[in-house]
Amino acid sequence: MDLVIARPEGLYCPPGDFYIDPWRPVERSVITHAHGDHARWGNQHYLASAPSEGILRSRLGQDINLQTLGYGEVIDHHGVKISLHPAGHVLGSAQVRLEYQGEVWVASGDYKVEPDGTCDAFEPIRCHTFITESTFGLPIYTWQPQTEIFEQINTWWRQNAAEDRASVLYCYAFGKAQRILHGIDASIGPILTHGAVEPLNRVYREGGVYIPETHYAGDFKKSDPLLRKALIIAPPSAGGSTWIRRFGEHSDAFASGWMMLRGTRRRRGVDRGFVLSDHADWPGLLWAIEQTGAERVMVTHGSVSVLVRYLREQGLDAQGFTTEYGEEEAETENSS
Ligand SMILES: [Zn+2]
Ligand SMILES: [Zn+2]
Repeated sequence: MDLVIARPEGLYCPPGDFYIDPWRPVERSVITHAHGDHARWGNQHYLASAPSEGILRSRLGQDINLQTLGYGEVIDHHGVKISLHPAGHVLGSAQVRLEYQGEVWVASGDYKVEPDGTCDAFEPIRCHTFITESTFGLPIYTWQPQTEIFEQINTWWRQNAAEDRASVLYCYAFGKAQRILHGIDASIGPILTHGAVEPLNRVYREGGVYIPETHYAGDFKKSDPLLRKALIIAPPSAGGSTWIRRFGEHSDAFASGWMMLRGTRRRRGVDRGFVLSDHADWPGLLWAIEQTGAERVMVTHGSVSVLVRYLREQGLDAQGFTTEYGEEEAETENSS
């Protein structure tokens, strides 16, 4: 029996009668993490990991009907044992493990296999069927260790500061921004964050994650020389805004896995691209799939056909699952 099937509302568990990350309002939902393409407004009941509560409530409303589970905690719903396990993607991100009549399925949500210190590290779960994302499911995507990327960012910022030029770094407000703040050398200069980033920093800090001191741009006069030593963390949507123009002539950069493709940086029109992703790269996807021991793999969310073909060649029963675009895919679509 299939424990998860694709329905117009999203991934559905027939014996449990609930959806995983539905994109249309449903009665019962299990949410893997708080990114906008996974956690949508309007469900009557939400089940999610305990560490994701602060972000979910700040994004979907304080009054959502939310039940939380600690990682590894098991509940029984219509005979389906449900538990959530770390996905290493963003704060609170979880894989969903379902067990019914001896059959075990795991839906990965988005995941990353390199631990980064801002959320619990990805934990491989043994299962019969694994539903994997494939955002970066092409062999060209192989990430450098994040320490090297942070060194590149530090060097860029240090150089700009030495030349009295502000450094504007664009990245997603939830997850990527906090990972960058956690990983960079905060001694180089002051750090300013956009209003979309700061409330999420607060939730991370409350969750015990180290985020260095950050300031509001409004705390500085436009003439303050410190501004020219600053690193400014802003969402992509702030590009070209009056908010950005206050920093005068500055160097700008974009941090994303898509920066692996030179065309993406050119289209964005930024000076630098840093290849930093919250998703598994190609070797990471293959490693994670192997670790589950699954004989059957359902591929969603990205380069589905390439990964499906590769897994079939390895003798696995692989097939694609149709879902809506993820946040990062949507991002590239809009950037051209
Ligand atoms: Zn995500
Ligand atoms: Zn996603």
